[in-house]
This record gives sequence, structure tokens and C-alpha cells, in this order.
Amino acid sequence: KDSAAPEEDITANDVFIAVKTTKKFHRSRMDLLMDTWISRNKEQTFIFTDGEDEELQKKTGNVISTNCSAAHSRQALSCKMAVEYDKFIESDKKWFCHVDDDNYVNVRTLVKLLSRYSHTNDIYIGKPSLDRPIQATERISESNMRPVNFWFATGGAGFCISRGLALKMSPWASGGHFMNTAEKIRLPDDCTIGYIIESVLGVKLIRSNLFHSHLENLHQVPQSEIHNQVTLSYGMFENKRNAILMKGAFSAEEDPSRFRSVHCLLYPDTPWCPWKAAY
Ligand code: UDP
Ligand code: MN
Repeated sequence: KDSAAPEEDITANDVFIAVKTTKKFHRSRMDLLMDTWISRNKEQTFIFTDGEDEELQKKTGNVISTNCSAAHSRQALSCKMAVEYDKFIESDKKWFCHVDDDNYVNVRTLVKLLSRYSHTNDIYIGKPSLDRPIQATERISESNMRPVNFWFATGGAGFCISRGLALKMSPWASGGHFMNTAEKIRLPDDCTIGYIIESVLGVKLIRSNLFHSHLENLHQVPQSEIHNQVTLSYGMFENKRNAILMKGAFSAEEDPSRFRSVHCLLYPDTPWCPWKAAY
């Protein structure tokens, strides 16, 4: 089969994009996303948070209060992932994609990537955060443990799961089951997703280099390839500020994440983008 030919004709409306955030990041992180990529994809983007915020709610109807704790604990983060999963299953969308609130999502390239697969097949796609499988211990009972090895896609780069696969995950992921599964291996939410898919269901992660977290050197994304990436990020890496390098509409001082410049590259008709700028 020609790998460039689409397997299934989908649009952005077939994708459920879950953004994980927390109240303390609504101003510092979510406002930037609302101004940029989410503004172009409001219908398919769902924001999972832990505190009421009228200002955020004014911008989109898709804010979901999870009732999860606002702590950065393994349990609190798994609680949010469980709600993301349940809301996706309730929706009529074909693909579930999870991102963090420090990710830029290029929805056009995301849709192009997902159309290469069928949503009824078992598809788990993202970027592995380690260069080898993670080694964990599964608690089978009070006194019984067993080692398990599996790959997982790093949540900080974003990942996607087909509806076909998501439905098979239900016994370990739906309702309260996700939290129980996470406790069985005592690992973060994104590892738990990998555990359910690879270890329990035997489905392999499809690696994509188009997803990016700030735990990789973002300077290595070539400027000429920025428009082809599916996700980008910004933040800290090895104690230094990390963002993509690009000459764009705004300087690094005005736009430290580079997300506003990326947005003007992808959507030059945006009112706040400088008209006829040198990109
Ligand atoms: N986060 C959260 N609750 C917290 C802290 C962080 O839900 O108490 C979310 C945050 O909004 C982001 C993700 O978890 O979507 C990762 O957080 P962050 O980028 O601060 O940390 P990282 O793991 O990338 O270093
Ligand atoms: Mn982060």
C-alpha cells in the first residue's frame, strides 16, 4: 500500500484532543493555547482541569472540571487521564489524542498522520520517552509481583489512540479501573496507558518523530520542518530553557515559547499576526 495514500478520509472533527491542565496554569499556559492553536480547533479540543475559571470558560464551552486533586501526584494525574478517557468514549469521535498544556498541536498535520490508519484498527502512536522499554513490577496480589517491560509514548509530547483500541482498553481504563491499573504498576498516567496497550493487550506503539516534548533538545527541529510537525513544546531541559528555534513574526523575548510565531507561520491570516511579515 502506498504509505502516502490515506487509509481513511477523516477531518479534524473526527479527533478528540484532550488537553491536561491545572488551575495554576490557566493564565500562564492555557491563555497562550487559547490564543493560538485552540482558537482554530475549538470544537474538537477538550480542556481537563481541576478548578473553576470563568475566564477560561468564556473562551470555550469545552472545559471539563475533573474533581481530581490539583496536586502533582501520580494519583491526581491518573485521575485526570481516567476522565479524559471516559469523555472520549462518551463522544462520537474516531481518535483520542492527549496533550499537555505546554504543547502546540498542528491539527492539519495531526489529521494527515491519523488518516494513514483506520480508526477501527488497534493504533497507538506517539514518541517513546526512553530509548528502551520501561522495566516495571506488576502487583498481581498482596504478595505476588512480576516484572514487565513495555514501551510507552511520553504524555508531554502527545499521543493518539484509535477508537478501536480504546474500546478494548475499557476493562482496565474505564470508570475507576484506570486508577486501579495505575496503582498495580505504580507509574505515571502515560506509562499506565503504555502498560494497558503493550503489556495487557499486546499492541505495539507506533513511533513517530513528529511529536515533541521539552524533554528533548527542541533546537534540533529544523526550521524548514516546523510546519510538518504534529506537536511542539517548550519548557525546561537539563536545567536550561528549551524551545524551538525559529525566525518568525515575534522575537524570542516577545514570544519565548515560539508558539505565537509558529501560529503565524501556519495561520498567517490571524488578525494579530503582522501582515506580510518575512515568513
Ligand atoms: N499538571 C497537573 N497538575 C499539577 C501539575 C501539572 O495537571 O499539579 C499538568 C500540567 O498542566 C501539564 C502536565 O501536568 O499538562 C505536565 O506538567 P509540567 O509541564 O509542569 O511538568 P513536566 O512533567 O512536563 O516537567
Ligand atoms: Mn511540561
